[in-house]
Amino acid sequence: MAAGRPLRFAIIGAGMSGILAAIELRRAGHSDLTLYEKADRPGGTWRENTYPGIACDVPSHLYSYSFAPNPDWSHHFSPGAEIEAYFERVAREYGVTPRIRFGDEVVRCAFEAGRWRLETRGGHRDAADVVIAATGVLHHPSLPEIEGLSSFGGACFHSTRWDHDATLDGRRLGIVGTGSTAVQIVPALVDRVAKLTLFQRTAQWILPQENPEYTEAEKAAFRRDPATLARLRANLSQLFAQGFANAVVDAASPQMKMIEDLCRQNLERSVTDPELREKLRPAYRAACKRLVISPDFYRAIQHPNAELVTEGIERIEPEGVRTRDGHLHPLDVLVLATGFRADRFVRPMHVFGAQGESLDERWAKRPDAYLSISVPGFPNFFLLNGPNGPVGNFSLIEVAELQMAYILQLVERLRSGECRELCPTEEATARFETDREEAARRTVWTTGCRSWYLDDRGIPAVWPWTFDRFREEMARPKREAWEG
Ligand code: NAP
Repeated sequence: MAAGRPLRFAIIGAGMSGILAAIELRRAGHSDLTLYEKADRPGGTWRENTYPGIACDVPSHLYSYSFAPNPDWSHHFSPGAEIEAYFERVAREYGVTPRIRFGDEVVRCAFEAGRWRLETRGGHRDAADVVIAATGVLHHPSLPEIEGLSSFGGACFHSTRWDHDATLDGRRLGIVGTGSTAVQIVPALVDRVAKLTLFQRTAQWILPQENPEYTEAEKAAFRRDPATLARLRANLSQLFAQGFANAVVDAASPQMKMIEDLCRQNLERSVTDPELREKLRPAYRAACKRLVISPDFYRAIQHPNAELVTEGIERIEPEGVRTRDGHLHPLDVLVLATGFRADRFVRPMHVFGAQGESLDERWAKRPDAYLSISVPGFPNFFLLNGPNGPVGNFSLIEVAELQMAYILQLVERLRSGECRELCPTEEATARFETDREEAARRTVWTTGCRSWYLDDRGIPAVWPWTFDRFREEMARPKREAWEG
């Protein structure tokens, strides 16, 4: 690397994007970096979520770093534990693990006299020129406000805090929620429990997707010829972007119609009992909520052990769930698959910008960030998978790789001495936000449903354009949008 200003980096979070940031910074010649991780292992969401049936519904060969293909994925959509092991292995092999400070959560981060001063829960202090917040999107559980919740007599936990000591075999299990998480849990447990009661507030469209294992011959072929793997990844990326990611941002697109047809056919063909079929039929367009993908949910919900309850929940009692019709559903274990607070981002960490303004103040109503990467007044502070970015059905790895390549170009301006501080202008951020909100109104996410994509005003807090446009934006920072 050419001579320049030596920079120190603090990366917050050792999940998929934090590990990526460390690898890319080291590849760009930056060796002075520390990752702060609140837990005792890397892996982010894949460490946190251990519920039965967990898998990624993005194809495994796409949900891998482009530079670290994995010929050994067991399935087209591999289970969570395998994904966690992949991130741990990559972190180890790329020399990231020794740079991680485990069990020490950054609680405060303030830009003072040209540098970021960090403070951890354990009282450790650090200073860095650049902070990369890789803290994830969906990690603050959203707990339902249901009367009597704490009175439940059996084990009761959120899906992301799975209690592996709770006995399930032969017990009566209740699950609240019908999002991607619940739809994975139901098939994994339905034939282990005595009875599974699924409490559905809103029905979901389900895109059918079989999940075959890769054969040993296929894995051997991937190992022999890495070019095959690279081609497979590129094809999956294109298929995903064109057939899916680009469709959902245009509610009127023919691809969107195809997705809707597939979901409708799945419901008609898979559910035989007309009454159950109608209970499972959503009253909104497919993909309005983040689309749920499953090979076996409909099969599982028709299992003799399963019951779908669509009556609203009145309250929770020590013995079970009482619905509004007065019926008590007796349960031994209650799982809250009720989703996440998607607007929290780096919080509860307190971040203070150059003028002492806090991110909590700036984000009091809702979070914003220029291109979802950086916030005016917070110099040299970059977010991966930050607010209003491409989430949902995109591969967040591809998203983070593109964002990191963009951030590296800004870092290079700092290293070369061209400037000491960089953050987006208020003007560029406001313009981005206005354009984003306008485009978001044309997406399928605004066609009449409630979902975690929608902000407090009902505007989707996501990237509302095509994946190609995202790629173009990430190719090169626009000079006029950044000040230093
Ligand atoms: P979610 O999609 O937000 O679903 C939460 C569910 O809980 C909804 O069915 C919701 O009903 C219900 N709910 C919430 N509060 C309730 C209450 N008070 N009473 C009754 N029902 C209540 O959460 P999630 O399933 O955990 O998924 C979140 C996101 O995580 C997904 O959209 C996806 O992006 C990601 N994820 C990905 C994968 C993957 O394979 N890649 C797997 C799991 C999760 P309403 O619909 O009526 O609000």
